[in-house]
Amino acid sequence: MYKIHHPKADIDRLYVKRKEGGRGLVQIKVAYKAEIINIAEYLNTNYKEDQFVNIVKSHESTQPNMNSIIKTAAKITEELSQTNERSDAKQDGIQQTEARLGESIKKKWKSKVMHGQYIRNIDRRLISEEDTFLWLLKGDLKAETESEIVATQGQALQTKYYVTKILNKETDSKCRLCQQFEETMDHIISACPILTKEQYIKRHDKSVCTTALQHMQGNRGTIGQKTPV
Ligand SMILES: [Zn+2]
Repeated sequence: MYKIHHPKADIDRLYVKRKEGGRGLVQIKVAYKAEIINIAEYLNTNYKEDQFVNIVKSHESTQPNMNSIIKTAAKITEELSQTNERSDAKQDGIQQTEARLGESIKKKWKSKVMHGQYIRNIDRRLISEEDTFLWLLKGDLKAETESEIVATQGQALQTKYYVTKILNKETDSKCRLCQQFEETMDHIISACPILTKEQYIKRHDKSVCTTALQHMQGNRGTIGQKTPV
């Protein structure tokens, strides 16, 4: 994980699917829980046909809670039903169980006051979640660059707003350039009136020109490679 995860970025976001704005890692805890439910389901459905499965199931029932797969699975299912505010988790197969566990992690990320701001804003009706997270799905960026962007979206960099409101180390959270608005990442990236006059225009022109040039070069078959980011 060296430089792949920014130390200030949200940990739960690591385990959310890339198409949903996360980094797409498989959480060991989730894999373990899904597998326990899978084994319990196997024991519960095959004990009638298979005598050996029946023996295992009988043995299971004599074990204390912590050693019993079936009892552990029931506990996980119960937790899942409560977390998802639904009572039919017992009917789920392994894929649905994994989806529910994934949903719980996403919910946790979304509910965080600071890190959750970004994903909460994405849910607006006019913003396409699919297109917004295309950059994560494509995986064209270096892992370090990706982690910096994720940390930026999570408002975890040392802006004056972060230092004042989250770390409580300063009292003034206003932008150091315009002195008018809160110095948040969103403000620095796209809303500061001082940067609007020149820097945003330069950034836009550079980005558009580079993309247009790459398209032209790609179409002519001269330089097919993209500029590394
Ligand atoms: Zn400003």
